[in-house]
Amino acid sequence: MDAKTFDAKSLLDSLFENGILFESGIDGLYGRSGAFEEVIERFERLVTRLGAPDKATRIHFPPGMSRATLEKSGYMKSFPQLAGCVHSFMGGEREHAQLLGMMADGGDWTELQKATDVALTPAACYPLYPTVAARGPVPAQGLLFELSSYCFRHEPSKDPARMQLFRMREFVKIGTAEQVRSFRESWLKRGKAMIESLELPCEVDLANDPFFGRGGKMMANNQRDQGLKFELLIPVTSIEKPTACLSFNYHQDHFGRTWGLTFADGELCHSACVGFGLERVALALFRHHGPDAAAWPAAVRDVLWGV
Ligand code: ATP
Ligand code: ZN
Ligand code: MG
Repeated sequence: MDAKTFDAKSLLDSLFENGILFESGIDGLYGRSGAFEEVIERFERLVTRLGAPDKATRIHFPPGMSRATLEKSGYMKSFPQLAGCVHSFMGGEREHAQLLGMMADGGDWTELQKATDVALTPAACYPLYPTVAARGPVPAQGLLFELSSYCFRHEPSKDPARMQLFRMREFVKIGTAEQVRSFRESWLKRGKAMIESLELPCEVDLANDPFFGRGGKMMANNQRDQGLKFELLIPVTSIEKPTACLSFNYHQDHFGRTWGLTFADGELCHSACVGFGLERVALALFRHHGPDAAAWPAAVRDVLWGV
């Protein structure tokens, strides 16, 4: 982790060499060292402490979610290239013999699998909206949740900051347009101050999601024009193209409309989420402060280990 080299490949190699990440044979799937996990645990504590005065309800969803929920969310319309669906073998003895035969012949045995009702969770907040809607009207002061989930996105890459399975911690506010916008504003400030307290260089910028296809270009432009997404960027593998480590998203009433999230008087709810990319923050810390967390600047250690 030489301060001058900033490319993805050399960072990945040095993470392997220093025993911080472990190869699995698949780009974007890595084992994590105890030291790496401890940094994530400490960072999560910091996030939770910062959010504590808001008294969010904590929910931990598993890394798989209802496929029907993902479909209804519109994910396949916007990001079909990133989605993952769990498939399983559901045949009988005859199909099993066929499957083993195909495997022995080096054929594509996965043809004999069928889609299950489980999709891999692409962002921590997708399973939340129908869960909240099922509990009845949203109170006038809105609702606040703190979530954590492993997430899957099919975006194999040599960039260690672009994993296929990674963790996201999120705060999600469901309420009026004004409530969710002020929630987002407050986290834009708190998030930046928190990253600066870890002595990481960062900037906040307007952003868009990687919507699929030609129609996606328009959606991305629209998202930018309306200022719906901001990212906190930290140089991890490049100075020119810093990495999005925190995201601040305003969904307007998209999820309210989709899931029938309303107040008691029937008015539709708006929502916003702030997402912390846990592996990305840990990578940024190792990248800037070195492979040995015990040797990190005292002020940084105080912030992480003092809580
Ligand atoms: P990018 O622009 O780099 O693709 P994103 O804008 O798609 O990221 P979001 O959809 O906003 O990311 O996800 C929330 C957070 O999850 C991001 O701020 C980031 O920290 C983290 N994240 C997203 N994709 C990945 C990934 N492939 N590997 C690791 N962390 C990720
Ligand atoms: Zn979200
Ligand atoms: Mg982005």
